[in-house]
Amino acid sequence: MATANNVDLAEVPSLDLMSELLRRMKCSNKPDKRLILVGPPGSGKGTQSPLIKDEYCLCHLATGDMLRAAVAAKTPLGIKAKEAMNKGELVSDDLVVGIIDEAIRKPSCQKGFILDGFPRTVVQAQKLDEMLEKKGAKIDKVLNFDIDDSILEERITGRWMHPASGRSYHTKFAPPKVPGVDDVTGEPLIQRKDDTAEVLKSRLEAFHKQTKPVIEYYTKKGIVGNLHAEKPANEVAVEIQKALSS
Ligand code: ADP
Ligand code: AMP
Repeated sequence: MATANNVDLAEVPSLDLMSELLRRMKCSNKPDKRLILVGPPGSGKGTQSPLIKDEYCLCHLATGDMLRAAVAAKTPLGIKAKEAMNKGELVSDDLVVGIIDEAIRKPSCQKGFILDGFPRTVVQAQKLDEMLEKKGAKIDKVLNFDIDDSILEERITGRWMHPASGRSYHTKFAPPKVPGVDDVTGEPLIQRKDDTAEVLKSRLEAFHKQTKPVIEYYTKKGIVGNLHAEKPANEVAVEIQKALSS
């Protein structure tokens, strides 16, 4: 049977169909959640997202990953975004707001979403609020990955990524089973072009100037949960569980 997306369900292995069905049954009991993860580059947002995504049945929308995919595919969006990204500057608000507006309509975002790396300016936060208001929805929680800048260079320069999934590894803190190879797919890992000590300086400058005010914006709304993001990843995960259950 061909579906609207042209997937022939008869060709999907039974085990995959069954586990998807079980996932959907488990998810139907979960409350909707709309979350924002905010923090400087390397603070651990991408590492924690898959855990939250699975626990609450949410979609994970990382604007950085989406923009990198657009750059790799040389789409008009990618061509517009490339220069700013390579320099560690933010791309224009209109470009990223457009991507998010489209992405949150996906069926996988039905139970809610994790926004990772968005909003990064107060204008983006205001546009997001307007978008959600139209749907009668709102942000439930903003997780602030609070961390000292001095910790980030080692995290960023040791990071290796699996571009297709966004999975990240670290040579010292989260090494893959085989160096340079993704644990799940066996595909090669890459280092991001902007993951250098030099570009990190501009990225941190953009964070402090443009994104810190976003934390203040949501603090005034009383929905920010502060995390000690310098702790080991498993301890940060426990803090997140606590923040999301309060
Ligand atoms: P972000 O998505 O915020 O840019 P990542 O989750 O990709 O950050 O983490 C940056 C790097 O630091 C990755 O290489 C990751 O494996 C590693 N990392 C993530 N969380 C921790 C942690 N709590 N302690 C040590 N290293 C971490
Ligand atoms: P990240 O993967 O989150 O570190 O993002 C990589 C780069 O993508 C950033 O340095 C920006 O150039 C761009 N980017 C990602 N998200 C946004 C956003 N919400 N607003 C503007 N630029 C963004």
